Amino acid sequence: MKQLIDPFNRNITYLRVSVTDHCNYRCHYCRDEDHITDTTRNEILSYEEIAKIVRLFSELGVTKVRLTGGEPLLRKDILSLVKMLGEVPAINDIPISTNAHLLAPIASQLKSAGINRANISIDSLDKGRFDQITRGGDLDKVIQGIDAAIESGISPIKLNMVVMRGVNNDEIEAMIDFAIERKLDIRFIETMPIGTAGIDALDYHYSEADILKRIRAHLPDRLITIQSKQTAGPAKSYLIENTHSSVGTISAVSNNFCDSCNRVRLTAKGKLILCLGQKNSVSLRDALRSGMNDDDIKTMIINAINHKPERHEFDTDIDNIDSAQMVEIGG
Ligand code: SAM
Repeated sequence: MKQLIDPFNRNITYLRVSVTDHCNYRCHYCRDEDHITDTTRNEILSYEEIAKIVRLFSELGVTKVRLTGGEPLLRKDILSLVKMLGEVPAINDIPISTNAHLLAPIASQLKSAGINRANISIDSLDKGRFDQITRGGDLDKVIQGIDAAIESGISPIKLNMVVMRGVNNDEIEAMIDFAIERKLDIRFIETMPIGTAGIDALDYHYSEADILKRIRAHLPDRLITIQSKQTAGPAKSYLIENTHSSVGTISAVSNNFCDSCNRVRLTAKGKLILCLGQKNSVSLRDALRSGMNDDDIKTMIINAINHKPERHEFDTDIDNIDSAQMVEIGG
């Protein structure tokens, strides 16, 4: 089987696909208050184009494709895309990242179509606070979405909470209890300086060390380290003894985990982004639409991977970070 190895000997097996840059939430760390998404239908990749790009990546060694956004459940007939991706032979893992606002009515159909795992963003269990952070989100709908996903058998479900000092850092314990009660995993995410909204969010930065202190105090002697090979991702994670849950942190700023990076990102407009914290990208959409043949597009992908940066520079060169808002990149 082919492998996509970058110059730093990292094996790229994971493609994150943003299926839309529209979102029904406006989380203040993700997009500016006045940020407007005016992308037209023709600018974004069609499902056929996404499936073709995924097939080409799979022929090069990618096995996992995450659907993200914007909010992926806003894209019309998302089930048909999930089914198309499930038919790509080498793809064996199709998770989704969602805010769960629209999840309840569609959860079991997503599961049947091929979504095996889900990451659900939830930053507060307090309705008013949730509404403020998301600028108009509906906590009840999100909890209904979470419960429907549990019911559908999508598993594991991971809750993602962006922790912000003075905004929601007092809810770490409550969020752990919420996850344990529902047998879900939970990850606490440090704010990242992506786009202007993300850079502003550094004002609320709450460090991994502080998050871990709180987790340990809440669960004394109950954390069992999960070796990072098992998680194959950027999270530091622990099983919680005597529960069905795990807890962890994702801390791109405090703790550079770029040496284990196994992923690249495809935006809704078809840009291949090689690193979340750098500007390098190429347009696979333009290549496809210019009529380039499959082999030439695969060569283009290989050449792009040969330019995947060694690491993000969140901590050293904030000016080199893509000015795109996170909502356009997909997290
Ligand atoms: N709408 C989907 C969702 O809510 O999960 C998918 C897209 S969203 C951009 C993906 C993830 O990125 C979410 O968990 C969100 O909290 C996270 N995110 C967005 N901006 C961030 C930032 N500046 N720092 C850290 N995480 C961020």
